[in-house]
Amino acid sequence: MSHQFVPAAVLSPQPVFSCHIYVSGGQLLCAGEVFVHDRLDVPAELVVASHYLGELSGQTCGVHLLSAAVDVPGCEWRGLRSLLGLVEEEMFFLAGRAMQVGNWDTDHRYCGRCGSATICSPRGERARICPSCQLSVYPRISPCVIMLVTRGEECLLARHSHHRHGLFTALAGFIEPGESAEQAVAREVNEEVGLVVGQPHYIGSQPWPFPGQLMLGYTVPWLAGGLKPDRVEIAEAHWFHYSDLPAEIPPPQTLSGQLIRGFVRAASGKPV
Ligand SMILES: [Zn+2]
Repeated sequence: MSHQFVPAAVLSPQPVFSCHIYVSGGQLLCAGEVFVHDRLDVPAELVVASHYLGELSGQTCGVHLLSAAVDVPGCEWRGLRSLLGLVEEEMFFLAGRAMQVGNWDTDHRYCGRCGSATICSPRGERARICPSCQLSVYPRISPCVIMLVTRGEECLLARHSHHRHGLFTALAGFIEPGESAEQAVAREVNEEVGLVVGQPHYIGSQPWPFPGQLMLGYTVPWLAGGLKPDRVEIAEAHWFHYSDLPAEIPPPQTLSGQLIRGFVRAASGKPV
């Protein structure tokens, strides 16, 4: 069955949840691949906070943040990444949303400015407020660009130093304060592989909850320069003809995988 999730626009008062997600220590309580439960028998004293997330196929859905990863019969605690590709995309991003709301609540129980204990905003917004200095902290989302550099029938794929398994993928990086997404594309490509690129073409966006990125995806044409991988973030980078890609490219659930497949479709005129 396909699920549809509608994020909550109104948070206060919180409705009674019909569907429950439990997170603790950066993990989700799962029964196999199922992380949305009818209410489970979890000790009430372990529930640090509960947050309404929205409607899942018409049912109110919320996340409970637990202070300890308690044993629940028939369940196990799993990392979010282990669900990628196993559950449908809509559900994966719901799991990511639950995790990000849980992380935000965990990480901002004290004010980063004055150290006082924070409270949930009484105004019905998803914010933790400092009663002493009024600092408001919302769940943090970090915008990133991910870009497939193209040169005629070729695209540029790189192997990142921190990827142990040698997966070739598109370039990516965080947007700096004061920078537009387009400027970030040009800067990151130049820093990572030494190329000059033209005008980026926006393809689409995707939340990437590891831990809280919003990926903005582009294709961008090569203009000038030869490949000079920085050897810090990028171990190696090569031009690949659309008909001769590496054996392993990112899965279609990822924006990187979608950029690559979209390029091949456009270049070859065939579906991938
Ligand atoms: Zn404060």
